[in-house]
Amino acid sequence: MAHYIGLDLGGTNIKSGVVDDRGQIVAKLSRPTRPETGPDGVLASMVDAAREAADAAKIPLAQIAGVGIGCPGPLDFQKGLVKAAPNLPGWDHVPVRDHIARALGRPAVLENDANAAAFGEFWVGAGRDVQDMVMLTLGTGVGSGLVVEGKIIHGADGLGGEAGHLIVQPNGRRCGCGQRGCLEQYASASSVPRRALDAMAAGRRTILKPTRADGAEIDAQDVFAAAQQGDELALGIVEETAFYLGIGCVNLCRLLDPQMIVFAGGMIHAGEFLFDRVRRVFGEHSWTITDNHVQIVPAKLGSDAGLIGAAAVAQAK
Ligand SMILES: [Zn+2]
Repeated sequence: MAHYIGLDLGGTNIKSGVVDDRGQIVAKLSRPTRPETGPDGVLASMVDAAREAADAAKIPLAQIAGVGIGCPGPLDFQKGLVKAAPNLPGWDHVPVRDHIARALGRPAVLENDANAAAFGEFWVGAGRDVQDMVMLTLGTGVGSGLVVEGKIIHGADGLGGEAGHLIVQPNGRRCGCGQRGCLEQYASASSVPRRALDAMAAGRRTILKPTRADGAEIDAQDVFAAAQQGDELALGIVEETAFYLGIGCVNLCRLLDPQMIVFAGGMIHAGEFLFDRVRRVFGEHSWTITDNHVQIVPAKLGSDAGLIGAAAVAQAK
């Protein structure tokens, strides 16, 4: 049985694990990223995390078939560089792949973190029985990975498959990317409370309070909970979120004809309260010239998707 190391670099934590060729995690661990230590400090920490995972799995590094690394982008796939990373200040064309490969003495492959997570779901998660799949991770933004005929789409400059920046509302809300009306402005977990707070500031009545008892700002789950209690403002925001997700799914289907669209991230805990609405919008706005067979479903791997996906990328290399 072959084993792979998966490394998942996030702005807060580095996750590391040994994964076998059936996608089962043999050992995993997490340590803080500490971005303030700069690229050198973070890379050293990634190498340590990989070694510790191999130790914990009791598998000598020499027997690790490959190392997959999921990183925030944009990336240069040819050269194995992280060109820049919004949550990692000072990262400028950092040669992550070659550094890790040299330090561990194993072949390494670099992948965008959202793509890696999608590939993990494709390998052993929600998409294990399909060949064409799109995953949308509803988080701070909307990350996405497109798997077409079993392969991740990268595009000419590594910027393919950014479905979070499909324009679903021309001249709509301004996005951090410079466009207006991007899907992530209406469907990310952070956009949900933001739109609720905007509506409250405009004087709309609601059972929602701007902050919780502990002083923290409300999050998407608070809005969904209020919606489930029948709060009109909150329900309107859930309907709007589902509307734009449904429209995004129609567009993805016209472009790619996937068998499955998978949503990941904390918002999927709303379950059918969200998915039913997205499927209804999809049905209302999709083709009538033929049946629509796409499955719109929640992800299955939870917070392990990035780790398993990084290993999956190494395995597919
Ligand atoms: Zn955008």
